[in-house]
Amino acid sequence: MNVKEIFETMEYGPAPEAAAPGLAWIQERTPFNLFINNQWVKPASGQYIDSINPATGKRLAQVAAATSADVDAAVAAARAAFETWGKAPGHVRARYIYAIARHIQKHARLLAVLESLDNGKPIRETRDIDIPLVARHFYYHAGWAQLMESELPGYQSVGVVGQIIPWNFPLLMLAWKIAPALAMGNTVVLKPARYTSLTALKFAEIVQEIGLPPGVVNILTGEASQVGEALVQHPGINKIAFTGSTDVGRSIRRATAGSGKKLSLELGGKSPFIVFDDADLDSVVEGVVDAIWFNQGQVCCAGSRLLVQENIADRLIEKLRERMEHLRIGDPLDKAVDIGAIVSPGQLKEIQRLVNTGVEEGAVMWQPSWACPTEGYFFPPTLFTNVSPATTIAQVEIFGPVLVSMTFRTPAEAVELANNTRYGLAASVWSENINLALDVAPKLKAGTVWINCTNLFDATSGFGGYRESGFGREGGKEGLYEYVRPKWETLEAPAKEFHIAGESASTNGSKPAVSADEDREFEGGEQLLDGYTPMLPAIDRTPKMFIGGKQTRPDSGYSRDVYDPQGQVIGQVGEGNRKDIRNAVEAAHAAGGWAAGTTHNRAQILYYIAENLSVREDEFARRIVQQTGRSYADAAAEVQAAISRLFSYAAWADKYEGAVHRPPLRGVALAMPEAIGVIGMACPEEYPLLGFVSLVAPAIAMGNTIVVIPSQVAPLSATDCYQVLETSDLPAGVVNIVTGDRDLLSQVLAEHDDVDAMWYFGPAEGCKRVELASAGNMKRTWVSYGHPRDWMDTVQGEGEEFLREATQVKNVWVPYGE
Ligand code: NAD
Ligand code: MN
Repeated sequence: MNVKEIFETMEYGPAPEAAAPGLAWIQERTPFNLFINNQWVKPASGQYIDSINPATGKRLAQVAAATSADVDAAVAAARAAFETWGKAPGHVRARYIYAIARHIQKHARLLAVLESLDNGKPIRETRDIDIPLVARHFYYHAGWAQLMESELPGYQSVGVVGQIIPWNFPLLMLAWKIAPALAMGNTVVLKPARYTSLTALKFAEIVQEIGLPPGVVNILTGEASQVGEALVQHPGINKIAFTGSTDVGRSIRRATAGSGKKLSLELGGKSPFIVFDDADLDSVVEGVVDAIWFNQGQVCCAGSRLLVQENIADRLIEKLRERMEHLRIGDPLDKAVDIGAIVSPGQLKEIQRLVNTGVEEGAVMWQPSWACPTEGYFFPPTLFTNVSPATTIAQVEIFGPVLVSMTFRTPAEAVELANNTRYGLAASVWSENINLALDVAPKLKAGTVWINCTNLFDATSGFGGYRESGFGREGGKEGLYEYVRPKWETLEAPAKEFHIAGESASTNGSKPAVSADEDREFEGGEQLLDGYTPMLPAIDRTPKMFIGGKQTRPDSGYSRDVYDPQGQVIGQVGEGNRKDIRNAVEAAHAAGGWAAGTTHNRAQILYYIAENLSVREDEFARRIVQQTGRSYADAAAEVQAAISRLFSYAAWADKYEGAVHRPPLRGVALAMPEAIGVIGMACPEEYPLLGFVSLVAPAIAMGNTIVVIPSQVAPLSATDCYQVLETSDLPAGVVNIVTGDRDLLSQVLAEHDDVDAMWYFGPAEGCKRVELASAGNMKRTWVSYGHPRDWMDTVQGEGEEFLREATQVKNVWVPYGE
């Protein structure tokens, strides 16, 4: 072939990267042992499992199969290491993490080769994307270790973290887990995926090389059923960080329910790739290649649903097929290969099964004319047209190189189609009209939105899901909060309930056991006013529910008595049931426009609520006295605190702004805190008014609409708020109040698929029930684990923690330049 012919055919020979250094490294070490306390330890079981090269189907190495005994040893090592690592100055941790980053770069080529051999992904990707991003993640987080003390002053480390990662980006997922954990002073036990352990083991060597203190990082290879489950259940672990499928994520949510373990879940997706008719179609074609054929489509945020404006659909599909015809599949170590091997035979079979389903469902399947290699596990790039939105292939994550396309006519239809999924990981929007793109971005229910780009990742910018794609973020400052907890929080076992009004007068008014560092003003006046008797009749009006802006009778037709501490009936409230909750959730959904309004407007309404409450200060104070038997001064202080809290969130409403991240590209990523949606909340029993306001105010300030269950024993302060809310211009349905049995109603809320988050401040068993029930639609939960919180204290009772719980961060990537 002469040069001219080469230019005409554009055929070129193979350009393989040498496998030899990687294979030699493996040969010297296989079978691999476990990495515990900076030592290589034989697994207790004596068992090893094979690791396969998916491009050949042949055995590459053997790695240890850990069991629960090994998990015990690793957790013990991590616990011991936490004692010193957790107290080390940020600068010390920064030095170590920086050293890790340097060593990743030093071994970059070996890591890239190992990753391609073990996972089957093209060397071009491991060399140019995976490994550089790994180094970047450690560099970036070395910085956060250095800055933790000054930038996260109210926070401390969580402790020992169990981390479980998938096989699609083996070393990158390790970096996303380990870098922030170490930066925030935690120690780690990490389990790589069954098929792809080798780069994690090379990482362990780096840990040894740089002399990281023993026990800070421990790596356990093996089966999910042995290592994964033991980690999830281990009492010595304070947090589980998981990346993987939604099904396993759900089972981990259930397994950790009530344990008090912090949890972050990065799960599956079925992300839309939206193309408007004014998009640059050549860029779009390359974007689609990156969206769905990058890493063989085994990408959680893969743009696997192509949504095209109808008038350009034919043209785009034709261009795409043409491009697909020229994709190169084959040896992952060949630098000219676009598509490598599927990770395992099981995965390959699953892709084939779903593709068959698509054909059976009547969609039109198209694959290029060329054939895949016969050795190893390969699957050709596949495009479905004529797909209807409700079919399996339009809804289920295929996790392979399979794209399904659908059409839309208007932007509104595009948004509706895009959000027609239980997932919410990412979305990509293509249009030359920036106004249109930026208008669509906030309407998409997804943690990341890429405008005229796709599959961009950087340590600066948080990544994570909405809805069933999980909760928590990895990367950016927003990701650090997964690895810290408030300083005032202790790690002791759930404390007993305290200060429950109506239970026994003697415990009323006692201060919570936590960090009550200052004496409060009202205590001086307590004696003076102690003898005050509430001047209210024994039984007065019976408040109804507050649903959709109206006072409504309980569906049950029953009421429940409310008692004072002496056991006298002082009123009745509606006995809410399942139906009332359903109506309230519906009303909250109908009020969804609240989030789209201006933050200025929300601030104004919160100020107005505060103003209207202050007009009735005395009445509210008396009501608290009546329900709790606390002194008038104490009750008046609670009302004052509630008014102040409303002011705080009125202030925050237009000041909780997010960030502009600066990833290394020409462009920015806008980290925008968005409302979560409908939040269900069960108020604490103590502080009938302040407990209620402390939850309601931050949630509505951030644009959520809510269903609130007031204190069960002292609900009258919340029901007294109806009139305050009604006179404060709060739109109907933003706040809905259902009284009754707190645990029963919480259960209904936690199970409800149209509730997006659930807050519960109550006993430990109730917390567990809420966490368990939340697994249905993977709603976010925020529970107290029975721990007391001093609601009068502004550090514990208000602020950033509440705002974070009331929002989820969306990162909108906006590249610029021509
Ligand atoms: P998987 O859920 O089967 O396994 C993930 C990890 O969990 C593996 O290490 C596995 O051994 C372990 N595991 C499995 N069952 C477990 C159990 N019961 N208890 C504890 N650990 C258990 O997922 P996978 O097939 O390895 O990865 C593919 C999935 O991961 C896809 O759904 C993909 O979307 C998702 N993913 C998500 C992200 C993200 O950031 N959101 C990133 C990559 C992959
Ligand atoms: Mn492998």
